[in-house]
Amino acid sequence: MIIKPIIRRNICINAHPLGCAAQVRAQINYVMDREKIVGPKKVLVIGASNGYGLAARIVSAFASNAATIGVGFEKPGTASRTGTAGWYNIEAFRQEAEKAGLPAWNVNGDAFSEETKSNIFDIIKDKLDRIEFLVYSIAAPRRIDPATGEIYSSVIKPIGKPFSASSVDFLSGVISEVSAEPATAEQIAHTVKVMGGEDWMLWIEKLLNENLLARGFKTIAFSYIGSEHTRSLYRDGTIGAAKKDLERKAEHINNMLTAIDGNALISVNKALITRASAVIPAVPLYTALLYRIMKDKNLHEGCIQQMYRLYHDFLFSGNSPKVDAKGRIRIDDWEMRPDVQREVAALWKEIDQENIGELADIRGLREEFLRHHGFGMPGVDYSQDVRPNMF
Ligand code: NAD
Repeated sequence: MIIKPIIRRNICINAHPLGCAAQVRAQINYVMDREKIVGPKKVLVIGASNGYGLAARIVSAFASNAATIGVGFEKPGTASRTGTAGWYNIEAFRQEAEKAGLPAWNVNGDAFSEETKSNIFDIIKDKLDRIEFLVYSIAAPRRIDPATGEIYSSVIKPIGKPFSASSVDFLSGVISEVSAEPATAEQIAHTVKVMGGEDWMLWIEKLLNENLLARGFKTIAFSYIGSEHTRSLYRDGTIGAAKKDLERKAEHINNMLTAIDGNALISVNKALITRASAVIPAVPLYTALLYRIMKDKNLHEGCIQQMYRLYHDFLFSGNSPKVDAKGRIRIDDWEMRPDVQREVAALWKEIDQENIGELADIRGLREEFLRHHGFGMPGVDYSQDVRPNMF
């Protein structure tokens, strides 16, 4: 089959297996060209098939020679239909790790479920004895509570007042006004249940009970704060409520880990276009302006650059990581620089349908988004016939 991208409303519904493998290799090459990091050697990454989690696993393996277990929740390809990008990414990672002599195990399953947790615990017991580092990088639309079977869905809505702002369809470049009504109390609670810290805490609690965490164990989860332009929808909205819960849970986890000298951390990451963030209203327009300013200032980073800097400069630099007043690592530091935010705000006021191509990095955003799905990778022949179920 010849595979070309199919995108609807900022969602790409297919992926290219060879292109995904090429973008995984490009991230590995980025890491291989850099200084090695003295980091943990036994690592579990939950949400390892895309975005930040995939990049973190690549840094763990290829910069610090770790054996890794990666969990993703992806759909395989069939003879007539492509799999999800993450399906190809995680397998491409495993193959590259194997070639490099780095042990790697993949689990495709719902990380919220008891079954996936117990599959992973078996792999740890069998292969690694105990893990030293756990990266929690899930972006999920729903969660089935393992205790009750109840289904919770997350929503992206403001809290307390309606939200309206400009947004962009980054495929067509068309700007439109989007609006969202405030979330109900139930929607807020459900979003916190899905995207908050409860499941992260459950993982740590269960791993601790099973004696599967090494002394000095560390864990990290990712949060986002962002600019004034997205604040009322994001940080002050339902997802922000979930992120605040995640940040609070880090404190509980820290208390749980004192017995093994362990440590739970939050990293506030930069806004990037990934499968998850592309569907948040107003975020693509903000991100397109941010990319333009950060590229002009030579400050732009993608997932792999962010994760390498997180490991190299903060987590495993040999010193305690620099944190903000709330104890969070801030690798959104360059995004939040006052000059960057000031210039984004100035462009935001000027932007219209006429000048969007010039003022915003719509092209960069589109290219990066397509690369997350294996399209537009240099060296891949997109005219060749490929089998969507090749891996
Ligand atoms: P992504 O969509 O690229 O990746 C999400 C990962 O979660 C995938 O590997 C997917 O398979 C996995 N996943 C989803 N549901 C799952 C389930 N039920 N079981 C197992 N795995 C599941 O997302 P991303 O943008 O890399 O986001 C990762 C984390 O980083 C999220 O917590 C997100 O809020 C945070 N973050 C993202 C940004 C951004 O701009 N993209 C910025 C700051 C923080």
